Amino acid sequence: SAKQRPGNSVAFYSQHLAASEAQKMEVEGRLRDAMALGELEMYFQPQASVRSGDVVGVEALVRWNHPDLGLVSPESFIPIAEEAGITVDLGCWVIESALAGLGRLEAAGLPALQLSINVSADMFTDYVGSRLVQVVRDSLKKSGIPPRRLTLEITERTIIDESGNAPQVIDDLKALGVRLALDDFGTGYSSLGYLKALPIDELKIDRTFIMGQDKEDRAFLRAIISMAKTLNMVVVAEGVETQEQLVRLYEEGCDMYQGYLCSPPVSESALPALVKTTFPATSPAKSG
Ligand code: C2E
Ligand code: MG
Ligand code: MG
Ligand code: MG
Repeated sequence: SAKQRPGNSVAFYSQHLAASEAQKMEVEGRLRDAMALGELEMYFQPQASVRSGDVVGVEALVRWNHPDLGLVSPESFIPIAEEAGITVDLGCWVIESALAGLGRLEAAGLPALQLSINVSADMFTDYVGSRLVQVVRDSLKKSGIPPRRLTLEITERTIIDESGNAPQVIDDLKALGVRLALDDFGTGYSSLGYLKALPIDELKIDRTFIMGQDKEDRAFLRAIISMAKTLNMVVVAEGVETQEQLVRLYEEGCDMYQGYLCSPPVSESALPALVKTTFPATSPAKSG
């Protein structure tokens, strides 16, 4: 049913949010307070090796535990935050909280993992860009997590937005030693030229390209992965739900995957048990 998985209940409530303008305004007001009230929470979705099923990383995904509406999807409240002009505060909160969360878990014995954090295009505009770099630097230091274990996920929107300062901010972030991933690849509108020009370490293939079953879908998947490999990028598939999809990804040379086949995003307290699991893989189980 819709409530069994966090991912599904999130989608359910987002429809409620879209229902009326009045409700949207109420939500906007409430969102301003949500951070202070502790209603926002970071969830983590494991990323596993396609070959071994070992968990190698997690993606941090923000959740809003709304007192009346329940768990609200970021897909519905991030656009509202943008209109309200509070994405920057939200974005900084996310970076601090995700790194602090993983830092706490590692202090309590969780093995070292990669951490991916989504960063919206608004964070790359003029003044904000330097604040972004500052927050990343400070939060890394506080958490004790080395920069090379942090991946910032940006989208094609960040890259094509010429009003901002993205190339400079990207350079500054790379100078800190963090990795960069291009999220939702294939769903945006940019040209391929930037892939060669920008220091992108990882390509995340959008779920829509994982779902398709026919010959064209497969050819598309193959082309994306082969291009990413040529450019020395790590390839991560998102939204993997079936073993069949996983086998296809393995055959095409994809490195890592995330999706319900592995696990939905979970709370910080649920993550340690999950990390010990061996997830579906394409080759015999890990040794030891
Ligand atoms: P995304 O970064 O592409 O994240 C993947 C989304 O797919 C997540 O939705 C995740 O829960 C969902 N998902 C994971 N596995 C599966 C699967 O097997 N099947 C299906 N159907 N869905 C799956 P979520 O958490 O609702 O986030 C939606 C989007 O909101 C994210 O897409 C990202 O663009 C944005 N977002 C989430 N958290 C943050 C954040 O902290 N900051 C910013 N700026 N954006 C965020
Ligand atoms: Mg992402
Ligand atoms: Mg994505
Ligand atoms: Mg996506």
